[in-house]
Amino acid sequence: KKYTKEEIREIVERENVSFIRLMFTDINGILKNLEVPVSQLEKVLKGDLMFDGSSIDGFVRIEEGDMYLKPDLDTFLIFPWGTEHGKVARLICDVYDPNHKPFLGDPRVNLKRNIKEMEKMGFTSFNIGCEPEFFLFKLDELDHPTSILNDKGSYFDFAPLDLGENCRRDIVLVLEKMGFEVEGAHHEVSPGQHEIDFKYENAVEAADNIETFKLVVKTIARQYHLHATFMPKPVQGVNGSGMHTNMSLFTDKGNAFYDPDSDLQLSQTCQKFLAGLLKHAASFTAVTNPIVNSYKRLVPGFEAPVYIAWSGRNRSPMVRVPVDRKNSTRLELRSVDPTTNPYMAFSVILAAGLDGLKSDLPAVPPIDRNIYRMNKEERLAHQIRDLPQNLYEALNWLGKDDVVVKSLGEHIYRSFVNLKKLEWVSYSQTISDWEKEQYLEIY
Ligand code: GLN
Ligand code: MG
Ligand code: MG
Ligand code: MG
Repeated sequence: KKYTKEEIREIVERENVSFIRLMFTDINGILKNLEVPVSQLEKVLKGDLMFDGSSIDGFVRIEEGDMYLKPDLDTFLIFPWGTEHGKVARLICDVYDPNHKPFLGDPRVNLKRNIKEMEKMGFTSFNIGCEPEFFLFKLDELDHPTSILNDKGSYFDFAPLDLGENCRRDIVLVLEKMGFEVEGAHHEVSPGQHEIDFKYENAVEAADNIETFKLVVKTIARQYHLHATFMPKPVQGVNGSGMHTNMSLFTDKGNAFYDPDSDLQLSQTCQKFLAGLLKHAASFTAVTNPIVNSYKRLVPGFEAPVYIAWSGRNRSPMVRVPVDRKNSTRLELRSVDPTTNPYMAFSVILAAGLDGLKSDLPAVPPIDRNIYRMNKEERLAHQIRDLPQNLYEALNWLGKDDVVVKSLGEHIYRSFVNLKKLEWVSYSQTISDWEKEQYLEIY
């Protein structure tokens, strides 16, 4: 444990904190917060702060609107950017229901439920390290995002091509001030695209970090008169933004994915977990790639996966095994994108992998050839299935998979599917410019 209530009182006093932001994440993965003046600190620490849950997408109905925010004291931190009115601190919260019980419609509460299931199986942590990518666009005079990228750089480029370099460096400095261990930051393949990698953590903290990370990136970008977007495919014809998710299971003896004596030094546990990931991939994609635009990234030719397969060498499949071994042995799931709600993503991914162990799934052979050069028959012969091609297909897969649905829980599942179906209907009824260009004249 990092902080007691007493310590938080002390820090708040000493650092002259005047506002506290209570943060939680809705089903769309959007960070929400309630800011209260420091006079409310005692109420906050007691978990007695109420908010109206019925106005949050996918939470509760009007008649059961009153929810409580129960802060996780270990997430206490002071934002390094100031206001004129003193410092602002934050606490990430679990949402509790009107009876002061953990609310299973809250993705963070639900992830903790999945972690408990994992602990019952003898594991102590599910470690996650993410590689979020994003684009920087210029703002116009009215501070609205434009579609003009801020540089022409490419993979690992230096300034002056990489004009985003100063902004990115500032983001890294702020993240470090906030306690992140940043392992690397670089320009990505597309113009205006960047990636920042930070150290792995257990799943709940890793998800907290991603939500905080996105807030920092957007906040600092604004200071450079830029707009940062995590939209998966903001520019046609170039690489989109993914969020590669590296994962491993630990027991008190260390990394359970590592076994020096087996094939590729991957343990039975790892092989079965991997088999579970592959088995449930089509159905958890609606969660890991939750918006209409997500599927414009999952197409051939842009380093994003299209097929459900794994490899120990090749980078093209959905799951890759990076070369590190021993405690760094891990699986890298490359389909995830940064618009996912990370608490929900880690819940479905964990449940998929654990199902591989529970169901004792046989190891799946790796595909070390370039899958994009195979034709449909060759892929079939290797039992390589396609990832869903759009949100509608993904939702159909999701509905058919008990393991994944259960890991979301009734409440989240129902709210999520309702929201997503509305999104799909709205999209599919829109007449796009492409259609007008293609059809208006010739028909
Ligand atoms: N941007 C690529 C994606 O969409 C990933 C590129 C990379 O990190 N090698 O997933
Ligand atoms: Mg990377
Ligand atoms: Mg990358
Ligand atoms: Mg990667």
